[in-house]
Amino acid sequence: MTETFGIYQGKITPLSEIKVSPLSRAYTFSDSIYEVIPFYKGKGFCFNEHISRFYECANRMGIKVDFNLVENEILALCEYVKKEDQSYVYYQISRGIDEIRSHLVKNKMVPERFGYATKIIPSTKPLVSMIVDDIRWKRCSIKSTSLLGNVMSMNLALDEGCDEIIFSHEDKITEGGASNVFFSKDGEIFTPSLKENILPGVTRDFFINALRSENILVKEQDCCVSQLDQASTIWFTSSTKGVQPVEKIVNASYVRDNNDEAFKTSRLIFNQSIKDYLSKT
Ligand code: PLP
Repeated sequence: MTETFGIYQGKITPLSEIKVSPLSRAYTFSDSIYEVIPFYKGKGFCFNEHISRFYECANRMGIKVDFNLVENEILALCEYVKKEDQSYVYYQISRGIDEIRSHLVKNKMVPERFGYATKIIPSTKPLVSMIVDDIRWKRCSIKSTSLLGNVMSMNLALDEGCDEIIFSHEDKITEGGASNVFFSKDGEIFTPSLKENILPGVTRDFFINALRSENILVKEQDCCVSQLDQASTIWFTSSTKGVQPVEKIVNASYVRDNNDEAFKTSRLIFNQSIKDYLSKT
């Protein structure tokens, strides 16, 4: 197995050699944000969009960090996986390391930068999913490492044989555990509109824009859980999943239509748009 390389405070070493303080606020409070940036044979996919979201999240958290440094470190990590067809860089910024654990941040802190690069083994396997109550905090639009609600819900679903979950809040779909949700019905495509409790997925945005350029409009609106039962195809989007259809929902009567043209066409457009994007960069 090839060694995974990581970076901590600017120093690149094998991931296994990185040591961090237990007083890192990432460790004690999940006071940190992260990004997952995909690369295809070393070419960043929507690199600027990922950096913009990261920057925005850092601002909203009041974490001050040099983003030129962050970008350069992500690109330096990417060098280690540039031969892989698909890979990603995970990169996390914490507010810093406390002298002693304290909720209150009284002193100026030095942000902690950590990341690693690894390959993606793409899967086109249709997924099994479960609808679960969205127990997470109200600011899921911030890509924070505070993912306890996702982790608990996804692992409960894993016990039921599921690969991914669909969160719902007050009968409205929000998003997946680690992805955004779309579905088709009668030839139209729907996705929940962005709110504070949904991460603005870079893949979601790319997908919607790719379809728009082919004059296919995705309806971004409130989506009720009951709509999923009537859907022809439900699918997830994310940087590591791309577009992945749902075969079954264990607690709903959704039956996937394997001849659904709306899904087939939009996945083709999405895949072609990625190729076009990469050929231009
Ligand atoms: N929603 C959540 C909760 C996620 O964790 C992710 C990705 O990790 C996404 C949506 C999709 O975001 P992106 O397309 O930027 O990878």
